[in-house]
Amino acid sequence: MNWLTKSVLPKIKAFVNKEETKQNLWIKCKSCDQMIFEKDLNKNFNICTTCNFHMPLYPKERMKFLLDDNTFEQIDYSTENQDILGFKDLKKYSDRLKDSKRKTEQDDCILLVKGKIESFPVVIAAFDFRFMGGSMGRSVGNAFIKGANIALDQKCAFVTIPSSGGARMQEGIISLMQMPRTIAALQMIEDAKLPHIVILTNPTTGGVTASFAMLGDIHIAEPGATIGFAGKRVIEETVKEKLPENFQTSEYLLEHGMVDIVADRKKHREILSNILDITLSNKN
Ligand SMILES: [Zn+2]
Repeated sequence: MNWLTKSVLPKIKAFVNKEETKQNLWIKCKSCDQMIFEKDLNKNFNICTTCNFHMPLYPKERMKFLLDDNTFEQIDYSTENQDILGFKDLKKYSDRLKDSKRKTEQDDCILLVKGKIESFPVVIAAFDFRFMGGSMGRSVGNAFIKGANIALDQKCAFVTIPSSGGARMQEGIISLMQMPRTIAALQMIEDAKLPHIVILTNPTTGGVTASFAMLGDIHIAEPGATIGFAGKRVIEETVKEKLPENFQTSEYLLEHGMVDIVADRKKHREILSNILDITLSNKN
């Protein structure tokens, strides 16, 4: 390898790739296969402009349209002893954590935020699915409890936005302990008569569904999201029955009383501000 291939070539490649990524990025909709220009998709809140399929929207992007301008304030939470078991499967858990932190620029899969919606203060805990499938481990429990405590101090609403495969298996039983921890935190919110509003996004499954995600005072769901505990295939194999086509979707859950509102994410800010107006106007 000479200096040309070693030094100059990578620089040229990096330059060309960067330009290509910036200018020609098209995203294929997983639902209708339509190619959409990335800029148009971003302007449309990551919703397919052809079929209305809601693609993932990561927490910081979501906050841009949910919160009033210049009110976003990120809150840190404890990530001590994330890998207390020194767990290793195909890869070390500590390495998985490092990769996810680099990818998402977050300490764990929750983004904890203070802000305002139409001047109503809120605390929001939003999940990033890119961080180990939004799985719930000890740090997520820490973030959740901290968020609930701040909502109590400020007498404001606690909004949670799950997107999760469930418990963080690499933390063993500690991950399961986060289910009662989050529920205990919500009990404090309930005792103080403050609203807990959940925005269910795709997917919300496993231990997250089996704990705080189904304990909202009001459940809003994004259209077409998968929401359930065990997967459809597992249930079919267990009960030996064919389940309906739209089983475990937002729309199915709305029909069966598990969800209150199914709404495009474009409308979430307006819906939240109405709920806050009704539930908190006489409180502060
Ligand atoms: Zn589409």
